[in-house]
Amino acid sequence: MGGYMTLEKEANKLLYILEQAGFSSYKVGGYVRDKLLDLPVKDIDIATSARPEQVTELFPKVIPTGIKHGTVTVHWQGESFEVTTFRKESEYSDHRHPDQVHFVNHITIDLGRRDFTINAMAMDQSGTIIDPFGGQTDLRNKVIRAVGEPLRRFTEDPLRILRGIRFSANLGFGIHPHTWRAMSECGYLLHEISKERIRDEWSKIIEGSHAIVGLEYLSYEGLVPLLPWATIFSAYNRHPNKHQLHRWKNPAYRWAFLLSTSNVTETMDISQLLLDWKFPKRLIRQIEALLFIKDQPIITPIDGKRLLIAHGLDIVKQGSYIRAKTLPDSLCVDSKLLTQWDHELVIGQPKDLAIQGRDLLNHFALQPGPWVSQMLSYLFEQVAFGHIPNDQASLLQEARKVHDDERTNFKDF
Ligand code: ATP
Ligand code: MG
Repeated sequence: MGGYMTLEKEANKLLYILEQAGFSSYKVGGYVRDKLLDLPVKDIDIATSARPEQVTELFPKVIPTGIKHGTVTVHWQGESFEVTTFRKESEYSDHRHPDQVHFVNHITIDLGRRDFTINAMAMDQSGTIIDPFGGQTDLRNKVIRAVGEPLRRFTEDPLRILRGIRFSANLGFGIHPHTWRAMSECGYLLHEISKERIRDEWSKIIEGSHAIVGLEYLSYEGLVPLLPWATIFSAYNRHPNKHQLHRWKNPAYRWAFLLSTSNVTETMDISQLLLDWKFPKRLIRQIEALLFIKDQPIITPIDGKRLLIAHGLDIVKQGSYIRAKTLPDSLCVDSKLLTQWDHELVIGQPKDLAIQGRDLLNHFALQPGPWVSQMLSYLFEQVAFGHIPNDQASLLQEARKVHDDERTNFKDF
């Protein structure tokens, strides 16, 4: 049997081996939280009193992945586990990196350095839970609460502010009032965190099953001290159709919708903004396509079919849905009509065309150039719309006609 049963069984073996060698060891953090919530297990992190070099001696394949923080990765029976020595951190002079890592001997001290009570629990081999900060109660009450003095914890590491909001967006939990007050007071410290890490947390917030809750916290004044994002998040939060966000699971649709609820898409180069914020290239391309379609009035079947050919049915449907929900007075085409137009397209992809660039080059005995792809997309459209049949003779005949009639449009002829 594969899946997480194996993962848990192997994690327990690992704990057993460590315990036999005289080191106390536990499954910790996200695993314990998700297990208690009956959520699927993704990975299992282990905390132990063994020092990294002692862990390394006990297992055949150990990689020193984060040795500075006391973390090694143990490859074991086809699975891998991050094993971290119990530690406490002190003196965060730059709000981000602990100046020193102090190893400690007891799990309770290690749990005390963790961010939220629901993340500060440990479980031993037998399933007994170590919960010094009331994490189980907070799980039951659906509360995100900082471990220890909130203001100090967010000053130490402002990224925790976004992590807290992320857990709220993923789990649908509220943030405890004291914790929330400290978060909002420390918002300005987020300036010190890299764009990439911030964007990473934002993405997880927006992708959460309770994204609206997370975005409500996130749009709180001061938590996004960065323009234009502050404008974007607060415009979203005030938008009458904001709940539509949950209609999609796909991050590209969620981001495109969120961006469309403000007017930044009209005033800014969004592609550049997304590039600056290190969004994955593929995601940027999808968001661009959606925002492009959102800006197109689809009036005639030809308008619709052109977009369908270029982007495919799903993205055109969602793009025009975004248009309908964010530009309420816009002309908006019914999704059934889009489906019908899509069916009416004779061929779906340029590769289905009965001729290729090579055929055009041979036929006209001309130099290659941009005219080839221009001609191919023209022919493709003609076939897709059903204006000419998809066979070599008809296509070459049409190409010849265009060549003779419209030299000016194809400059390279
Ligand atoms: P996910 O499901 O996203 O992996 P997680 O709780 O496992 O959630 P990780 O980022 O994998 O989150 O971190 C593992 C554990 O390490 C957390 O549960 C928490 O106890 C601790 N932790 C991680 N980041 C921080 C931080 N910035 N400050 C304090 N503790 C942290
Ligand atoms: Mg994790």
